[in-house]
Amino acid sequence: MEYKIIRLKKGKEESLLRLHPWVFSGAVASMPENIEEGETVKVVTSTGDFIGIGHFQIGSIVVRILSFDDIAIDEAFFADRLTAAYNLRRTLNLIRQDNNAMRLVHGEGDFLPGLIVDLYGNTAVVQAHSPGMHFARNIIANALVNLDGADIKNVYYKSETTLPFKAQLDPQNDYIIGSFETNIAVENGLKFHVDWLKGQKTGFFVDQRDNRSLLEHYAAGRNVLNMFCYTGGFSFYAMRGGANLVHSVDSSSKAITLTNANVELNFPGDTRHQAFAEDAFKFLNGIDDKYDLIILDPPAFAKHRSAIKNAMIGYRKLNAMAFEKIRPGGILFTFSCSQAISKEQFRLAVFSAAAMSKRKVRILHQLTQPADHPINIYHPEGEYLKGLILYVE
Ligand code: SAH
Repeated sequence: MEYKIIRLKKGKEESLLRLHPWVFSGAVASMPENIEEGETVKVVTSTGDFIGIGHFQIGSIVVRILSFDDIAIDEAFFADRLTAAYNLRRTLNLIRQDNNAMRLVHGEGDFLPGLIVDLYGNTAVVQAHSPGMHFARNIIANALVNLDGADIKNVYYKSETTLPFKAQLDPQNDYIIGSFETNIAVENGLKFHVDWLKGQKTGFFVDQRDNRSLLEHYAAGRNVLNMFCYTGGFSFYAMRGGANLVHSVDSSSKAITLTNANVELNFPGDTRHQAFAEDAFKFLNGIDDKYDLIILDPPAFAKHRSAIKNAMIGYRKLNAMAFEKIRPGGILFTFSCSQAISKEQFRLAVFSAAAMSKRKVRILHQLTQPADHPINIYHPEGEYLKGLILYVE
């Protein structure tokens, strides 16, 4: 297969030689005029030496490198990468009778930039973030159902909101292979409904699995407040951990319906749980000192670098409210899933909030994303989830 060639300016191969997988538009010296969005291209140095092969895209990142070896990007390539991704999840011991929900492909973290695949039982939900992955969707779907031992039967493609809209690809959310079977998945023995058709992202936030387990460990006898609960993940772990009561809050009434359904699925008729469709800031204002375990897992306050300043103010304000209200001896789980906010920045926002409250606050754990969201060491941008567990006296 002949691939078109993108030539870099002199010296602009440096980050690529360190295996960072992005080529920025400013680094390009020349490229063919007839190159098309999503095409597979070869990248070479100013002197013509091969650097990598990847998907071309119009924008500030022009190529996402798929391989630093001079190989073909074909069916065998995707089958190999997906097999490697699946084998890693096997190594992580995520494929068990009591656990069938996981991220199978985490973009750059699985050397497949632009591709996200979440697995719920025998349904894979695929999200393309690049035109190249959109064009490869059928090959990817076939490779998924042929993955040895994975027993994937249905592949749902959900990229209407993740692809660059300027590319005008007009993707349809639909099954590429198979159809709807069941939407109940299992995480660490707890069941939940996943709404990949209408839910946010792929329908469930698998990235909080390990942090939910930690919460379960701390929940016994506590009054738990799960802010920004979405499908209620933290709530049903808290209940299994022996919480005294669990209150779940989300501004979306759909999320509250999902949370109630999931709690009912695991703990039918359990009166310890109540859910409230309300704005988080309003709700926190009125809680007095009712809770001694609070979870703050808001949506990304900074979706882009330009929003960092306001996001920092938002995190500070939110955490300050929790510090003000939480009972002495309370435990606060606080998160940021904004990629644009660094670990240090998030910690600074939480520090400022703590200082405003003048409470004695200690860091018990520093949290990140779980191992099925691996971070390619050459692509530190892949680290997006950060969290702190704090002891507040
Ligand atoms: N903790 C969840 C994921 C949270 S996603 C989990 O473990 O799965 C963020 C959630 O915050 C979304 O469900 C969204 O509806 C909700 N949300 C956004 N703004 C809000 C606000 N101002 N008040 C309350 N909830 C809000």
